[in-house]
Amino acid sequence: MRIDIITVLPELIESPLNHSIIKRAQKKNLVTIELHHLRDFTTDKHRTVDDYSFGPDAGMVLKIEPIYKAIEKFKSERQYDEIIYTSPDGEPYTQKLANYLSTKENIIILCGHYKGVDHRVRENLITREISIGDYVLSGGELAAAIIVDSVVRLVPGVLSDETSALTDSFQDGLLAPPVYTRPAEFNGWRVPDILLSGNFKEIEKWQMEQAYERTKRLRPNLLNDD
Ligand code: SAH
Repeated sequence: MRIDIITVLPELIESPLNHSIIKRAQKKNLVTIELHHLRDFTTDKHRTVDDYSFGPDAGMVLKIEPIYKAIEKFKSERQYDEIIYTSPDGEPYTQKLANYLSTKENIIILCGHYKGVDHRVRENLITREISIGDYVLSGGELAAAIIVDSVVRLVPGVLSDETSALTDSFQDGLLAPPVYTRPAEFNGWRVPDILLSGNFKEIEKWQMEQAYERTKRLRPNLLNDD
């Protein structure tokens, strides 16, 4: 899988991509993640990426020319399955969408900044718009990092124990059951006896009951989703 990220602030995404699971995935050549500075696609001598918005609103808008140039260049090199723009008014991001994206070969993620991007970008160059929640960030970089993190860990071979992604929250429409580790007792607080019983069938049953109970209590909407 290859992910190209277009941004005016690559520094904001570098760190999350260079640690832990995402770093290992790149080392194992299971994913390639390339950060591209929008400035590198400008043609004017000031290398301008933004300009004032038309109309009375204050604020800068990312210009269409460098974005167009970047996307056209990438598209001339390979075929892209999705060209994503991160946006607060986009499709709400979910595990289902992460699963879908993890099956793709090549993805572009365009990060907005300031007031956003010239709307013609969204009308003509983008295949999908994703929001990571109903709040406004200063830029799409953190949203891109979240999307990349959640997608890359689903790519086959990235997690050492692949089944562990399957038992995560949302994968089966349920929240995950609680987990514990040693010591079995700390400060008088005990791990549930069932987990120490060695009876895997009973433990699985308990985990399923816990997952269901937690979902019903904390996120009942998940039980009604298809
Ligand atoms: N004026 C815009 C917000 C701009 S915020 C509006 O009101 O909708 C600047 C950039 O941050 C956006 O272009 C987008 O790329 C990113 N961004 C902000 N909030 C986001 C969110 N909840 N999800 C994904 N991207 C977001």
